[in-house]
Amino acid sequence: MSRNWEMVIGLEVHVELSTKSKIFCSCTTQFGGEPNTHCCPVCTGMPGTLPIFNGQVLEYAVKAGLALNCEIERQTRFDRKNYFYPDLPKAYQISQLYRPIAHDGYVEIETSQGPKKIRIHEMHMEEDAGKLIHSEYGNETYPDYNRCGVPLLEIVSEPDFRSAEEVAAYLEKIRMMFTYLGISDCKMQEGSMRADVNLSIREAGTTEFGTRTEMKNINSISAIERAIAGEYERQCDLLESGGKVTQETRHWNDDKKMSTAMRSKENAQDYRYFPEPDIPEILVSEEYIDDCRSRMPEFAPDKKERFMSEYGLSEYDAGLLVASKPESDFFEALIKGGATAKASANWLIVHLASVMKKLSADINGTMDFEDAGLDAEQMSYLIKEVEGGKVNRQDGIDILTEMVKSEEVLDVKEYIASHGLEVSNDTGALAETVAKVIAANEQAVSEYKSGKEKAIGFLVGACMKELKGKCNPGMVKEMLEAELKK
Ligand code: ADP
Ligand code: MG
Ligand code: ZN
Repeated sequence: MSRNWEMVIGLEVHVELSTKSKIFCSCTTQFGGEPNTHCCPVCTGMPGTLPIFNGQVLEYAVKAGLALNCEIERQTRFDRKNYFYPDLPKAYQISQLYRPIAHDGYVEIETSQGPKKIRIHEMHMEEDAGKLIHSEYGNETYPDYNRCGVPLLEIVSEPDFRSAEEVAAYLEKIRMMFTYLGISDCKMQEGSMRADVNLSIREAGTTEFGTRTEMKNINSISAIERAIAGEYERQCDLLESGGKVTQETRHWNDDKKMSTAMRSKENAQDYRYFPEPDIPEILVSEEYIDDCRSRMPEFAPDKKERFMSEYGLSEYDAGLLVASKPESDFFEALIKGGATAKASANWLIVHLASVMKKLSADINGTMDFEDAGLDAEQMSYLIKEVEGGKVNRQDGIDILTEMVKSEEVLDVKEYIASHGLEVSNDTGALAETVAKVIAANEQAVSEYKSGKEKAIGFLVGACMKELKGKCNPGMVKEMLEAELKK
């Protein structure tokens, strides 16, 4: 059946800010920790306590607002959103409704149809709620208030998306900008970036919006794409069979690939918003905004262009490096340390990637570049040693593995010396080995002489084995060739 329904989507995205302390108290924002050890009377809402606004949150919010091309509110203010839920001990959330910190912006995304602007309605600051842990057996629920008061930004888009592809591109773009700004790690799996998807459909060509549903807290971009496809199908089926879409919150079950109704908007809560009386209005000066603007980083697309023109990297390699800001910064630190751009890129993209893949498999998890805990000076030294033929590539890769595994910074020079990994330049010993290997491998020798160039690799390998790897393979190959051509 040809479907003439256009999908319309608006997103509400929550991002946890990576400030050291919470938004209204000095408790740590650190993820994990024993339940209820990262809290105090303020973030657990004890009567008589007063919130104190963390200035770092304002700086992060202004930078985020600028990245989203928003107007920054010069007189911003918090509001109370009143509701009861066991993960919210105060029975109200400090949020923003009337004077959000940023509004009227846009995010430019790239799609297969070309670039597109998604308009931002507003972005506001608020506090996160706690977590409820439900016991596996029995009916107990344990509230953990560690997350209470962790600062959040909520970004509300206009209903400008027309496909799952646009939604994915938008989320990736926000993740890129926010990780480059260093204001959040934006990990959907850990909940530091969460998206609510509002979706409706309408007959193609019409301008009126249909009734929408909302799907909350889906924890990966690919699951969001599946949820959009599933909900679109469901609404099309409903309307085509003469039914109506009910405005409601639905839960997307990614295992069953279907959504179920959670609660309808008909008994929507009235949050009785009112200005938060315990926090004064915040005046944001032009100077403050200018200062934030002057400290905005170079974002990934510009950095990628620069890596191509300045270092001669391929578009593909540059793209891989700038996918992570820390890794792209590290790449430039390697160059500063004296390694060439080509070798540095190769070591990160090929060798480090394979080392991390192996180590990730060992721990049955995933590792980020930051988890490697690498020291740029030590790694550029290693690269120079290998590229200069003083250490074998395979030994170099083993050293890199040790560097990643080791808790402390590994002294590469010392490690090479103490493990005897320096390549021997003793040509006498090399010549002896070459002669020995030629004598012992008649078949490979005659194959090589009859034009099978590949046989040389086998002979080089045999020499390396004989010398326990402590030699320069390029040099061995040269000597073998010279000897065989005699
Ligand atoms: P509410 O106050 O009920 O949360 P908002 O007006 O704040 O509603 O909108 C929430 C989100 O829903 C916004 O991202 C908006 O773009 C999106 N949205 C609103 N109407 C529609 C619609 N008919 N179809 C799809 N998305 C919509
Ligand atoms: Mg809303
Ligand atoms: Zn606290």
